[in-house]
Amino acid sequence: MDKVISVSLGEVALKGLNRGYFENKLLKQIRSATREFGSPNIYKEQGKMYIEAEENYFDQIINRLKKVFGIVYISPCIRVEKDMGNIEKASMVALKEALEKKNIRTFKVKTNRVDKDFPIKSPDMSSKIGGVLLKSIEGIKVDVHNPQVYLYIDIKDKCYIYTERYKAQGGLPIGTNGKGLLLLSGGIDSPVAGFMMAKRGVRLSAVHFHSYPFTSERAEEKVKELGNILARYSGDIPLYTVNIIDIQKEIHEKCPENQMTILTRRFMMRIAEKIAQRQDINALITGESLGQVASQTIEGIGVTNSSVDIPILRPLIGFDKVDIIDIAKEIETYETSILPYEDCCTVFLPKHPLTRPKLEDIEESEKKLDVDYLVDEAVSNAVFSTIEP
Ligand code: ATP
Ligand code: MG
Repeated sequence: MDKVISVSLGEVALKGLNRGYFENKLLKQIRSATREFGSPNIYKEQGKMYIEAEENYFDQIINRLKKVFGIVYISPCIRVEKDMGNIEKASMVALKEALEKKNIRTFKVKTNRVDKDFPIKSPDMSSKIGGVLLKSIEGIKVDVHNPQVYLYIDIKDKCYIYTERYKAQGGLPIGTNGKGLLLLSGGIDSPVAGFMMAKRGVRLSAVHFHSYPFTSERAEEKVKELGNILARYSGDIPLYTVNIIDIQKEIHEKCPENQMTILTRRFMMRIAEKIAQRQDINALITGESLGQVASQTIEGIGVTNSSVDIPILRPLIGFDKVDIIDIAKEIETYETSILPYEDCCTVFLPKHPLTRPKLEDIEESEKKLDVDYLVDEAVSNAVFSTIEP
């Protein structure tokens, strides 16, 4: 009898022919997440992965795995040879442990016989073990409809017995869905947008625009802090920091005031697209949400899109602000996002930004600017750093 940690794969397990690819990526993520806890051996067995770690690391490993995309549930299990004597003993230990931890009176046994050569069928095994437990532990009852605890028995090459299932993030392993360049501001939305795309398997890089010396160094620190938190889920994030103050000054000087926001946004997209192309990145990611602010109208989004060819992913497009805030709190970026440091967009904030920009008007204004030169200058002055968790 020994203990291992099991992880269930959720959507990864549903992949048909590509399953091996997804599983191997996940295996790599789990390896790197558990390396600092003694580099435990990990093996796959019919739809789950098992981690043979030292028991004193279990809590830390479980907490780390809760942030690894592709995992749906995590359980500390007792592993035994699959004979009745061992299964009975282990079930007793597992249920007693659960009783000690929580004030539990009712239970139900749930067997999953994956190995169809094993002679006892799942319902028979559940009732047999249920009977043994009732007889040997005092004061407990079976409740088939609403038990306070389930005792799970998975019969595979070995038998795994457990009572706890910690919920993890789900999603797909990082790196299974290409690379995305996140436009990361210091606000609430963009870190959440990055989280959501990373959860679908996109490997993140990020670009942040600032208007130093009009924006402070502290504002940049804040963005790095947000990147740190995000990197706990996504892994290391290459970050490009780009000063756009010269571009903003040019726009401010030569173009109508109410076009400031949309023109700036188009420059951000162009700069981001250039960086993405150089790094073999397939898409941009923003935290835009339809109707949230003046620049995020359908018309605004259309005019923004037409500045670049690269796809722009906007995972929050249909989200209400309160729902975005809920996610920000859950992933722990919220407290940092609400720190009061100014963003570059507020430096030349027009009093009445255009809500329904027309592409012809915007292109007319851009004729007054040396767009290619301004973009190239900004890109070549980008400062690179790597954000680690
Ligand atoms: P956020 O909370 O993410 O800042 P927001 O509601 O303030 O979003 P906007 O300021 O209009 O909305 O920005 C929309 C999106 O444009 C952001 O979610 C982000 O992806 C991108 N963006 C805005 N400002 C910056 C910046 N300074 N650097 C990088 N990306 C930015
Ligand atoms: Mg913002």
